Amino acid sequence: MCTQTRTVQVCSECGYQSGHTTGRVITCGLRGSGPLQSIDMNTDATCPGVEIEEEEDEIDQCHNCQVLAEAERRGEEAEEERLKAEEEVQERERADMRDIEEHYRQLEGEGREDSSSDDSDEFEEVV
Ligand SMILES: [Zn+2]
Ligand SMILES: [Zn+2]
Repeated sequence: MCTQTRTVQVCSECGYQSGHTTGRVITCGLRGSGPLQSIDMNTDATCPGVEIEEEEDEIDQCHNCQVLAEAERRGEEAEEERLKAEEEVQERERADMRDIEEHYRQLEGEGREDSSSDDSDEFEEVV
């Protein structure tokens, strides 16, 4: 029985076999190649064929998993961008509210100053 090693690339994430390489056939010597040339090759035993010995070569990610991982990464980035934009809007709204509150506080302060100020009349007289 001759042997040949067949190495399959197996995705470590989904188990998908994405390809394989076949090695050299290692002959057992029972299968003659070409015409019988010596008595040593004259044997009753015949080679039953080539046995494939499968070996698994684990790879990190198959093409599908790479595409999926890339899509997931892009989706997460888009989600982060969305959340950041949302936060910025909320932050701007809070800032606006602070401005409005500040504005009203100033108006109240000015109003109080106007009503309680005794110096303004004198000042006006000078001008
Ligand atoms: Zn053989
Ligand atoms: Zn995969």
